[in-house]
Amino acid sequence: LDPAGKLSSQRRIAEGDTVVVYERHDAMRAVAVRAGGVLQNRFGVFRHDDWVGRPFGSKVHSNAGGGGGKKGGGKAGGFVHLLAPTPELWTLVLSHRTQILYIADISLVVAYLELVPGCVVLESGTGSGSLTTSLARAVAPHGRVHTFDFHEQRAASAREDFERNGLSSLITVNVRDIQGEGFPEEHRGAADAVFLDLPQPWLAIPSVSLMLKQDGVLCSFSPCIEQVQRACDAMRPCFTDIRTFEILLRTYEVRDGSLNSATANEEAVVGPRPQKRKKFTPSGENSGCTEKTSSVLVRPCSTAKGHTGYLTFARLRV
Ligand code: SAM
Repeated sequence: LDPAGKLSSQRRIAEGDTVVVYERHDAMRAVAVRAGGVLQNRFGVFRHDDWVGRPFGSKVHSNAGGGGGKKGGGKAGGFVHLLAPTPELWTLVLSHRTQILYIADISLVVAYLELVPGCVVLESGTGSGSLTTSLARAVAPHGRVHTFDFHEQRAASAREDFERNGLSSLITVNVRDIQGEGFPEEHRGAADAVFLDLPQPWLAIPSVSLMLKQDGVLCSFSPCIEQVQRACDAMRPCFTDIRTFEILLRTYEVRDGSLNSATANEEAVVGPRPQKRKKFTPSGENSGCTEKTSSVLVRPCSTAKGHTGYLTFARLRV
């Protein structure tokens, strides 16, 4: 579903849309479709005009040499997929104006804030709008996300992104120092949930307790345990069920392969394929025979970050 509740596969690409051009799982980019626009990458030249009218999810071939293309009848080169900017994909392709929350944290936030369509959510700071986009989808089509950042340019860029992605009816972006001034009075007692990603969240927590409805839920993200401790101290007078989760990520490279005694110690084996293929092959120059087994091989990515931060949830005391 896109944030407006339509199935992405049923939507057709129109001029002005943002599409996520998918080359590989680790090579994607957001492109605004415009008349006469051209995308050039290692797979060839792609004309935006050929994309208009196709359903999101389509595979499109390049116009080899800049002309023709499959649709136009010419010789086809490489291809890409044109995906809808779902919140999951948007988080991977957006412009990083700040550190952002990734989908592992976001999924926990949306679930534990108990967001359902129609909810009203307050958020600060907006940052790059990564979380905001998922919050908007969770409360669509009749809910609302009011997001606040004290940085004018960041707020303006986020507003532009939300407009381009068709989310303006679900999100209002406001410029305000939430640690200094708290959330505006007009939201008093109206929020189902509040999310804080601020350097000193404890300063905003007294205001949060006024904004939440009875039983409303607060979540605060902090990268350091010292910030968590201070935030929890500030929550205790008005909140209950305070729980902190540390978000630990471990990414693995997974591939098919075959093992013999020489490689068995280098990689962890998740498990053999159900139909175990066994064959005997010469093992290098030393010859001799080694048993080879077709297997799924995994190893931790050397570049993966483990710790993203702590998410603290708390419910307003009734
Ligand atoms: N959660 C966001 C995302 O997923 O894209 C990232 C938030 S970013 C780490 C933190 C943001 O808080 C920054 O954009 C910063 O300008 C904003 N901020 C810091 N102090 C603030 C304050 N006192 N009031 C409002 N916003 C503030």
